[in-house]
Amino acid sequence: MSDRIPVQLIQTFEPAPTKIKARSTDNLIHTRSFTGLFRTLRISGAGVLFLLFFGTVWLNWGGRQAVLWDLSESKFHIFGATFWPQDFILLSALLIIAAFGLFAITVFAGRVWCGYTCPQSSWTWIFMWCEKITEGERNQRIKLQAAPWGLNKLLRRSAKHTLWLAISLLTGLTFVGYFTPIRPLAEELLTLQMAGVSLFWVLFFTAATYLNAGWLREAVCMHMCPYARFQSVMFDKDTLTISYDAARGEIRGPRKREANPANIGLGDCIDCQMCVQVCPTGIDIRDGLQMECIGCAACIDACDSIMDKMGYAHGLIKYTSEHQLQGGKTHLLRPRLIGYTAVLLVMIGALVVALMQRPMVSLDVSKDRGLFRENSAGQIENIYSLKIINKTQQRQDYHLSLVDGDGFILQGKTQLSLAPGEIVDVPVSVAMLSERPGKGSQEMTFKVADSDEPGIYSIAKSRFVAPMNR
Ligand code: SF4
Ligand code: SF4
Repeated sequence: MSDRIPVQLIQTFEPAPTKIKARSTDNLIHTRSFTGLFRTLRISGAGVLFLLFFGTVWLNWGGRQAVLWDLSESKFHIFGATFWPQDFILLSALLIIAAFGLFAITVFAGRVWCGYTCPQSSWTWIFMWCEKITEGERNQRIKLQAAPWGLNKLLRRSAKHTLWLAISLLTGLTFVGYFTPIRPLAEELLTLQMAGVSLFWVLFFTAATYLNAGWLREAVCMHMCPYARFQSVMFDKDTLTISYDAARGEIRGPRKREANPANIGLGDCIDCQMCVQVCPTGIDIRDGLQMECIGCAACIDACDSIMDKMGYAHGLIKYTSEHQLQGGKTHLLRPRLIGYTAVLLVMIGALVVALMQRPMVSLDVSKDRGLFRENSAGQIENIYSLKIINKTQQRQDYHLSLVDGDGFILQGKTQLSLAPGEIVDVPVSVAMLSERPGKGSQEMTFKVADSDEPGIYSIAKSRFVAPMNR
């Protein structure tokens, strides 16, 4: 009697590959290529991001780099406007607006930020594309991984890492170029003259890009990104998430293309695992919503293409809400979403007003450490140092004065002309006229005003100190 069991292949669709739940042996998830609507949208989103990131830094405006956070001078230039450390409250407001924008979009459509525009995801997709053009499709990459080291493997791996490093270096250079002028920086790099702090930061961001997008990939989303941790608490039953329609898909199983699933007791899922193979985080969306899902919609595109081949309707995996999956309707207007949107709109309005009213001249005052002194005229006098910044892009004339300064006289240089962006320290004294009523310490307000447009001014307060017995 034969000890062999006769077997017969009955699967009619492409054999289901090994389910990938973890990284493969080279510590990378090998994803399958796919096409589809959401891939196109994601490429467009990432394209805009890359264009802005790599392109903006090379733009010039008014003879200077258009967007530059000049660390040496503590100024942030953005096209025609310059922001100073005193304005950084506006930057904080911008960050809060971005946070509320992210909250609102997350409540509405889940992790669309992660899937379409997050730099971590976008750079990872680029690195995966480099992998594909150097090492081939998914199956070829898996084979290459299993193959012993030889010329082919060495060349392909070298090409991949060279591309990764080139993109990482370009990313590092560009990022540092937002903080130190990019043109001389690039020249230093090309002529191998770069050194010191610039070299350190360019190499630092090169290494960070190479590691994050090349090696860590989805591990960053799963274990390092704080947004991934807390975004699930923002979800509600109407949040759009990418979900598998189990009611339609189960019981899953392979079948002949022409078979009617209803007649063979199956749902629409043919268990091809295409949705798993394209997933950059290696999860199976059919197991339900998982923290690892970055909302990239690759599984939707993959499954829709399978549905096309089978002649089934799209949408076995789709954007939907928990309410909709339970047979109800998705409610667009709900308190949490309205709340976030309202806060967002109020903050945007406040920021616009603050930007429009931002004083284009800045004044800071510091009082001399000595309390007071008596001048040659016998008047009590205090000494101050005024720091004035011309925040405009033109030369301006300014006039210094005291607000409500009856009984006091401001002495020193009170007419000034400042170049664009110039900062000056002006020593002044304030003397108290002897006939002035009221004694002792009191508030003193200084004002610097544009000589041509008095509506453009800035004020700063200090104290005038005088003895009580005068
Ligand atoms: S489950 Fe789908 S949407 Fe989520 S990460 Fe994987 S492929 Fe992207
Ligand atoms: S959900 Fe779609 S892509 Fe995934 S296994 Fe089923 S048929 Fe294939």
